[in-house]
Amino acid sequence: MGTLSALFTPERVAVVGATERQGSVGRALVENLTADFDGTVVPVNPNYESVRGLDCVDSVSEADADLVVVAVPAPIAVDVVREAGATGVTNVVVVTAGFGETGGEGVDRERELEAAAAEYDLNLVGPNCLGIISTPVGLNATFAPRSAPPGSISFLSQSGAFVTAVLDWAADQGVGFKDVVSLGNKAVLDETDFVANWGDDEDTDVIVGYLESIEDGRRFVETAREVTRETPVVVVKSGRTEAGAQAASSHTGAMAGRDRAYAAGLREAGVVRADSVQDLFDAARALAGQPVPETNGVAVVTNAGGPGVMATDAVGDGPLSLADFGSTTVDALRDRLPEGANVYNPVDVIGDADNDRLRDAVDIALADGAVGSAVVLAAPTATIDFDRLAADVVDLQATHGLPVTTCLMGEERTRGAADVLSEAGIPTYFDPARAVGSLATLERYRAIRERDRPDPTAYDVDREAANGVLDRARDRNTTRLGVEAMPLLDAYGIPTPAGEVADSPTDALAVAERIGDPVVMKIVSPDILHKSDIGGVKVGIRHEEVYDAYEDLIARARNYQPDATILGVQVQERVDMDASIETIVGANRDPQFGPLVLFGLGGIFVEVMEDTAVRLAPVAETEARAMTEEIQASPLLSGARGRDPVDRGAVAETLGRLSQLVTDFPSILELDVNPLVVRPDGVEAVDLRLTIEPES
Ligand code: ADP
Ligand code: MG
Repeated sequence: MGTLSALFTPERVAVVGATERQGSVGRALVENLTADFDGTVVPVNPNYESVRGLDCVDSVSEADADLVVVAVPAPIAVDVVREAGATGVTNVVVVTAGFGETGGEGVDRERELEAAAAEYDLNLVGPNCLGIISTPVGLNATFAPRSAPPGSISFLSQSGAFVTAVLDWAADQGVGFKDVVSLGNKAVLDETDFVANWGDDEDTDVIVGYLESIEDGRRFVETAREVTRETPVVVVKSGRTEAGAQAASSHTGAMAGRDRAYAAGLREAGVVRADSVQDLFDAARALAGQPVPETNGVAVVTNAGGPGVMATDAVGDGPLSLADFGSTTVDALRDRLPEGANVYNPVDVIGDADNDRLRDAVDIALADGAVGSAVVLAAPTATIDFDRLAADVVDLQATHGLPVTTCLMGEERTRGAADVLSEAGIPTYFDPARAVGSLATLERYRAIRERDRPDPTAYDVDREAANGVLDRARDRNTTRLGVEAMPLLDAYGIPTPAGEVADSPTDALAVAERIGDPVVMKIVSPDILHKSDIGGVKVGIRHEEVYDAYEDLIARARNYQPDATILGVQVQERVDMDASIETIVGANRDPQFGPLVLFGLGGIFVEVMEDTAVRLAPVAETEARAMTEEIQASPLLSGARGRDPVDRGAVAETLGRLSQLVTDFPSILELDVNPLVVRPDGVEAVDLRLTIEPES
């Protein structure tokens, strides 16, 4: 039982705004509720004696209901909710539209609704939603034209239209639901509440969601992280290509846009992300019907070469691998199969196979210790009876207790068999890639369930010093900081070359004499984002060149922008770039998910390829290391063409320290270290740019 279980198990449901009017929401609700519901339905409408043969009451206070469905026009909906609250009801579904989604006065109305819900501590679904369904008690408190077939998937959707579409489609797909919730505007209850609820619900095997947004990203992550240890959560998040919302002033800001934040958040939450609706329910079906594999090895067994090759290709695309059979398995297959059959994985029992041969091959393969799951593919032949095959597969799946999916290649002849398989929870598809995809989903969920999540390291840092740097920037009334803020990185233990900002040629030479020869000199100005673009970075300046270099850098800045604020010239130790790679580490802040960290290669890789990895901050070092392995350019870090591999550990530590910095200081909105020079023996941050919140 979940925390919201009473919402799904009412005994008396009041429909406020019930009517006889054809095509009305009020009528559809009463019809749906009276179809299968175990409890009592009470129509509420002062203008009717009865609705659909049920006696009407005049007001919600007379209904004595434990669930109130509100379908009255928007202007009186909040009053109805108040009245329900005042009479002790706690569970309310507001299907009425005309709230926040319409803007203007609808927004105010939604605020009043929230206030009413808070006052009476209501579990309120909606407004502007389709309603809720709970199949165990036959509750269909929606105005959808179809109810949900019973099953163990609980489904939440931000789009009501999507719910109706899914219910319509599910009817003949062998997909069944425990609870269905149309979230509507999420004025009170949101996705996190339902994920938490279903995580504690014995009858929910899989939680499936269609989301356009997540209200409170951090809360969602914390909740789902726990829930997904036991109950898989699959989500399709629409709006994937949405561009970064805020005008970004840094690489990280531009790249770690909203979708990257969602991706990082859902990943951290342990959510299986689906790319499409088909993907969503393929995943749900597999997770609801099949056990989780114990290893990622797959056995492919087929009576036709082509489909076997396709399945094998699909295995290569995902987290699965083709199982390497033991010799006992190979011998057993060789004994059982005719000359010309393939006894190695993928097993081809060849076209003249009868049901017994195919069955025995599957049985032998499933007994192999390296096999965690199997896909059985059958093309229609004169010697295969699909109905028998289905019964055999159901039987073998149960006996071996491993996940199995099937691919029955045909339409009419396979229909009966597909029903039998569906009934047993075995996904069956025409397309080999989808059958393999289902197994890949199960494998992904295994990895999620088994992942260990060490706490982020708490590094020993100098918070005071970092605070001082930010304070001084605020004193200067600036929100954009550059290399003059390098002491921020020093304070958090991120290695930087020696460097100081000089405000005169003499000063610059004095700094250079302390630092080394030659040095690097950079213009320091909050108005110049890309210093080298205007010739504002000089590498390899000898002491005798410092004066001229200083004057030249100032002149270039003036020339570029006459009124630019110029803080001076940074004189920096020259970093040895041999055997090194320029990378970027960065951070930004998402409105829903909070601080994020980013890693990628510097230069064109980051700008053109967008080859970066993003995680929520703070990040544990193991995760940070995984970020360095996730980017496509990862092999370069391992030392291509005879070069030494660079120090991934130092990168991971830098990401960890940086994530601590942005977690500690919420006033840091965006931050880029570009480049972080990575060498075989450590890292050095040679450039820095950040944006801080203006003083509030
Ligand atoms: P910007 O990104 O504003 O153009 P950077 O400080 O990142 O300025 O410098 C641009 C490039 O100059 C770096 O990518 C790096 O190749 C080189 N560079 C900068 N600082 C140093 C340094 N201290 N030692 C060696 N090379 C450097
Ligand atoms: Mg730079």
